[in-house]
Amino acid sequence: MKLTFLGTSAGSPTAERNVSSIMLDLRQERGRLWLFDSGEATQMQMQKANFSLAKLEMIFLTHLHGDHLFGLPGVLTTRSLMQNQSALTLVGPKGIKQFIQTVIEISSSWLTYPLNIIELEQDSLVFEDNKFRVDAKLLQHRVPCFGYRIVEKDLPATLDIDKLKKDNIQIGSHYAHLKEGLTVTLEDGRTINGKDYKGDIKRGKKVAILGDTIPCQASIDLAENVNLLVHEATQEQALEAKAIERGHSTTIHAANIAKQANAKRLIITHISPRYSIQDNQKLVNEARSIFANTEIATDFATFQV
Ligand SMILES: [Zn+2]
Ligand SMILES: [Zn+2]
Repeated sequence: MKLTFLGTSAGSPTAERNVSSIMLDLRQERGRLWLFDSGEATQMQMQKANFSLAKLEMIFLTHLHGDHLFGLPGVLTTRSLMQNQSALTLVGPKGIKQFIQTVIEISSSWLTYPLNIIELEQDSLVFEDNKFRVDAKLLQHRVPCFGYRIVEKDLPATLDIDKLKKDNIQIGSHYAHLKEGLTVTLEDGRTINGKDYKGDIKRGKKVAILGDTIPCQASIDLAENVNLLVHEATQEQALEAKAIERGHSTTIHAANIAKQANAKRLIITHISPRYSIQDNQKLVNEARSIFANTEIATDFATFQV
């Protein structure tokens, strides 16, 4: 999995930062892209980062504030101009269906592909197949806002081929039985047990992408033991009262959530337009005083999970 930030500014864009949007690049895992939030100009940012609209499979919205939403009509309608007409699923808080229907009707637009809309009103399992699972939980913001936990499922252990080679074992037709951990008798007369030749389980990666929120238990639950947590940090710690009043977090709040959740890595984003890129070091240092493995997102920054 790879994460690319398409917009990292809170509320309104600046010359340095566009508004919220994050691409979870699953082209390697499933040949598709999952978009989290779609602030204004998201389709332009996608073009600059070389992400094809046709490859979009899922769009998850954290909430319906404009800085996370106003790029969505462009993303959806431009996608209709692509040759690929594969279905798209849109997940977001209640109201998103009415928003899309109204925009399409008023602007005389149309969609040429099936759009499935899932409206959330409470904590939900929003996606599951044999490789991935996504859970949503309600955070604490001024409007209903969700955070998402994306879990890549573990791959079962295969046989440790190196160990078999070392013991000079030709598994031949015994492969399936050994993989199940059964005992087999080899052509040369030796008896071996599959359990002694089990390789490691390939652990799937876990990512939490949270929307706007004050510190809350749901954030800790979503971020528990994740490889990577994306948390907003709208303000520096000195402006804590202002952050809380507007339903937002500070650098220190984000770091505390990462620490309490035992996350491995934290990326802070959704930075107030009051800060320029020159302030990045100061903001990230605040968070690092609590949680060392913190980075601050900039537009088009990519992180391998
Ligand atoms: Zn916001
Ligand atoms: Zn908001």
